[in-house]
Amino acid sequence: MAHLWLREASDSWSPAVPAGDTPAIHPARLLRRSTSQRDVWVLVGPPCVRVNGDPLDTGIRVRRDRDELRAATSRIFFSVESLPVIEPFPGSAQPTFCPRCKLEIAAGTPAVRCPQCSVWHHQSDELPCWTYAGCCTLCDQPTPLDAGFRWTPEDL
Ligand SMILES: [Zn+2]
Ligand SMILES: [Zn+2]
Repeated sequence: MAHLWLREASDSWSPAVPAGDTPAIHPARLLRRSTSQRDVWVLVGPPCVRVNGDPLDTGIRVRRDRDELRAATSRIFFSVESLPVIEPFPGSAQPTFCPRCKLEIAAGTPAVRCPQCSVWHHQSDELPCWTYAGCCTLCDQPTPLDAGFRWTPEDL
């Protein structure tokens, strides 16, 4: 799930998941257009909102990773990075095989979809395939479920 980085009074950045039609950065709104593969995010608002320094002149922009959004005194960042979460495997038209153990993943069983490469892995007591190693089988995504985000605005 994509998220926003909001600056708190303490001057530290904290992540927030954009929800529904709530204004992402007043008066602009961030809307989600989901497809089966990935989420597409669209920012809708007046030109007083700036994206990476440019006015939002067309009134609508598709968000990219690490875009900076500014309006008046607010400044937030948009990040498409997601954290790994355990969820029931939704099933698929073709059989889906776990890249770690090579066994099929049954619909409804606990699994983790790699937030980076989108490949599903088992994640149950019997088959802890996702957390079996420090990284995803197919990419460099760290597997700890409490690792936190790899990128924050502090990195700038
Ligand atoms: Zn497996
Ligand atoms: Zn991966």
